Amino acid sequence: PPIIVREFAQLLGLKPFKLISELMEQGVFASMNQTIDEAVAIDLAAKHDIVLEVKHRGEGQTPGQQQPTKKDIAKQKEKAAEEDEANLEPRPPVVCILGHVDHGKTSLLDTIRKANVVSGEAGGITQHIGAYQVSNDNGKISFLDTPGHAAFNKMRARGAQVTDIAILVIAADDGFKPQTDEALKYIKDAGVALIVAINKMDAKGANIDQVKTQMQQRDIASEDWGGETITVPVSALKGDGIDTLLEMIQLQAEVLELRANPQAKASGVIIESQLEVGRGPLATVIVQRGTLRVGDAIVCGKEWAKVRAMFDDQGKNVKEAPPSTPVRVIGWSGTPESGSTFTTVKNARAAEDMAEEEADKQKGQVTSKAAEPKEVSVEALFANIAATQAKTLKLVIKSDVYGSAEAVRGMLEAIQSEKVSVEIVANEVGLVTKNDVQRASAAGATILAFNTKLENGVTPQAKHHGVRIESFKIIYELVDATRDMMADMLDPDL
Ligand code: GDP
Repeated sequence: PPIIVREFAQLLGLKPFKLISELMEQGVFASMNQTIDEAVAIDLAAKHDIVLEVKHRGEGQTPGQQQPTKKDIAKQKEKAAEEDEANLEPRPPVVCILGHVDHGKTSLLDTIRKANVVSGEAGGITQHIGAYQVSNDNGKISFLDTPGHAAFNKMRARGAQVTDIAILVIAADDGFKPQTDEALKYIKDAGVALIVAINKMDAKGANIDQVKTQMQQRDIASEDWGGETITVPVSALKGDGIDTLLEMIQLQAEVLELRANPQAKASGVIIESQLEVGRGPLATVIVQRGTLRVGDAIVCGKEWAKVRAMFDDQGKNVKEAPPSTPVRVIGWSGTPESGSTFTTVKNARAAEDMAEEEADKQKGQVTSKAAEPKEVSVEALFANIAATQAKTLKLVIKSDVYGSAEAVRGMLEAIQSEKVSVEIVANEVGLVTKNDVQRASAAGATILAFNTKLENGVTPQAKHHGVRIESFKIIYELVDATRDMMADMLDPDL
């Protein structure tokens, strides 16, 4: 059958004018009701991730895949380990706080933090960067301030072990709850040291013995009950027991003999990353080994950074970050994935090359599959397009700034799967407008708003058209939600 522009556009999920302009870019001038060449159609389909092979394929179609020539990081690491031995020095523990909702995780973190804000600090403005460090006479302690099991698990799922000690918070007036047990399981699975903080000791119904009985039942009896679990009664509200808790953390850290080589090139883990208007991509990292310095070149997956500046949790400029220190790093090419690890390399050039190789590799995984030659008839082509359509997640993306838009695109391209592909219908900067809803409705797309708001009237209009709008502030949440949507498309036995 002849391939008519209008029908072809429909099959591709494109507005006819969009298809016409794409055709024009290829030097093909056709109007809505005209027909186009089979070869042209196949080429265009390919551009939309619907890849089909014909005999007379034009040149420049084979993606120029270089074989990844990534440096052998494993070997590097091995060598580094030897150098390390001689230079190991004690490092502060990295601590996270887990427990049932409302048992006081946030309050505890706040109290610890406030007790340790250096007085005289201009306004004592603390920045929420995902982690912070406190210090007392016994030394420093780093806290991850992303309580919540999901965050903890995410890190673990990505293979990053950042935490040395987990504080399990249990409210004295409530005892063990489902999330307490869940958290305990995570802690045991992760093999990190456990300290129990029995919180809300000031509360009326506080019953410390009940909590200790429950601990015993779970094989984590407290020290004073003949067990081994360091247990500290506290009141986050009144500040009671906080000093003891910090002391116990430091004691436990000593027992664990936490050490790292501050002389080494820095490596560590991304705690969180985001795009900030005017500052571009930022990432909070925890240095695990070595010392990170301004000017260092680091690489993390397909992102890299020449460290332009670093800030601590007080928003203060710092020039270097020794082991276990959380810092916010500026100078990234994009937002690195939280939970992933970074390493320092020779220079910015090398970092960029490695990041590019990684990006190519990820892209290669998508295109190489698609590039398998296939002979198809035009009927099969259309059938194929229709089938692919069914499993294409279409997205209209609006972001706050250009950098965000690029970062979102980059991350979404990295999660293309074999069974469901992601098609970015539009990727623009600005508010979500009624026009976006219209476009999404026409294309059957979902709108993702990243760090941006909806124009007045958009919500009812979206409702009317059955267009789904999802808003995100954190890039990995956007990526995760997209993954979920892709998974959902597969669920009903497609
Ligand atoms: P999270 O959900 O575990 O982060 O718990 P929050 O820190 O948000 O605390 C939940 C509620 O418990 C809040 O209303 C707090 O004010 C209260 N709370 C936290 N710590 C204490 C405490 O030590 N004593 C008392 N009486 N209330 C507390």
